[in-house]
Amino acid sequence: MKSKCPICKKPSVLEFRPFCSKRCADIDLAHWLRGDYRIEGEEEKKEENEEGDEGE
Ligand SMILES: [Zn+2]
Repeated sequence: MKSKCPICKKPSVLEFRPFCSKRCADIDLAHWLRGDYRIEGEEEKKEENEEGDEGE
């Protein structure tokens, strides 16, 4: 079962799997540390209606 580097899509290298290199592993780690990844299932909230829909 081959896997690809999630960063650059190159074939992963055993030593660095699932990444292809330490560079990509570092990039991934950096993403995590910065909080770039969101938890799945939590959808991004879209703009709420703020048009002041005054009923009466
Ligand atoms: Zn890579």
